[in-house]
Amino acid sequence: ATPAATMVGTTIGAKNGVLFTGGDILERTKDVDTVVFDKTGTLTEGEMELTDVVAVDGDGRPATDGGEAAADGGFASDASDASETSSPNDPSADRVMGEDRLTEDDVLRLAAAAERGSEHPLAQAIVDGANERGLELAEPDAFENVPGQGVRATVGSDEVLVGNRTLLRNNGIDPSPAVETMERLENEGKTAMLVARVPAGADDGKPESNDGSENDNDSDGELVGVVADADTVKDSARAAVTELSERGTEVMMITGDNERTARSVAERVGIKPENVRAEVLPEDKSDAVAAIQADGRQAMMVGDGVNDAPALAVAHVGTAIGSGTDVAIEAADVMLMRDDPLDVVKAIRISDATIQKIK
Ligand code: ADP
Ligand code: MG
Repeated sequence: ATPAATMVGTTIGAKNGVLFTGGDILERTKDVDTVVFDKTGTLTEGEMELTDVVAVDGDGRPATDGGEAAADGGFASDASDASETSSPNDPSADRVMGEDRLTEDDVLRLAAAAERGSEHPLAQAIVDGANERGLELAEPDAFENVPGQGVRATVGSDEVLVGNRTLLRNNGIDPSPAVETMERLENEGKTAMLVARVPAGADDGKPESNDGSENDNDSDGELVGVVADADTVKDSARAAVTELSERGTEVMMITGDNERTARSVAERVGIKPENVRAEVLPEDKSDAVAAIQADGRQAMMVGDGVNDAPALAVAHVGTAIGSGTDVAIEAADVMLMRDDPLDVVKAIRISDATIQKIK
């Protein structure tokens, strides 16, 4: 491209809130044949809201004195059932290690206390939801963030875990009694999280060796419930996917979230299920982008978070969107000043148009 053409393209971009960090980037962007969107905060608003709290009977043992409710593994199929079956008149309620099943509020109180130390949007929605219900939250004594899995905190005399199936399995707690509840919520596009507690002094079930290969599922920890957050898909996300597809650009999505939630969001914005990369750990996002490019594709990665910076760096074109974190912005080739996925289309169109004129 001539310097003049590049300058025109760069200026048009800037007027539209599309900042190319160099003339070479503007030229390179026309070659993008695949756009990989991060899900949370990029295709969705990234503003989570607590939508569901379900009390679960964690051991999945059949009830000793009222076999009926045990048929489903001993957990309620929705939130309203959960509060009904935990009423004192229900014989099946008396199953969790000889104690009554927790109420929904108990589950939420534990989860929210554990999440107080986390800045993750999932965590903040849980804490806000608990506050809205007027629940008083304990101050956790210890807190640990487990990236891509959840949190572990000491709340009163219990260790509390909130996170995904992997987090529970790695701590020797079997998530299977909550599987139906999780799947139902995930099919609605929600992020469902398991809540478990390990009473003080109990074996936490973690494998002796730290290689994570062996989980005896033998801890005294118990699954107590499921909480779910939902995010809103951005208004223009679907239009952006449609326009990119019309240009002949393959559109993909990458997320740490689970497969079901990811596919439900993908379906809503028009991304093909086979183009979804879910359950990708933060440190594996850049490898996932590299794998997508391994067969000669030229990918634009679009993300907003700290986690996304290495993936932005690996991509043919790294694009930071919206308010994005400083880390993401530093790693980006293109910055979209607004929070609008349609500006991804705009960036590519400006490059297409600028470079065509020169040829
Ligand atoms: P994303 O790529 O969507 O931003 P993350 O990599 O941060 O997702 O997290 C992946 C998954 O780990 C989440 O979907 C959730 O199941 C679990 N998780 C992460 N952080 C937390 C948390 N603070 N509380 C509960 N679960 C969490
Ligand atoms: Mg994210």
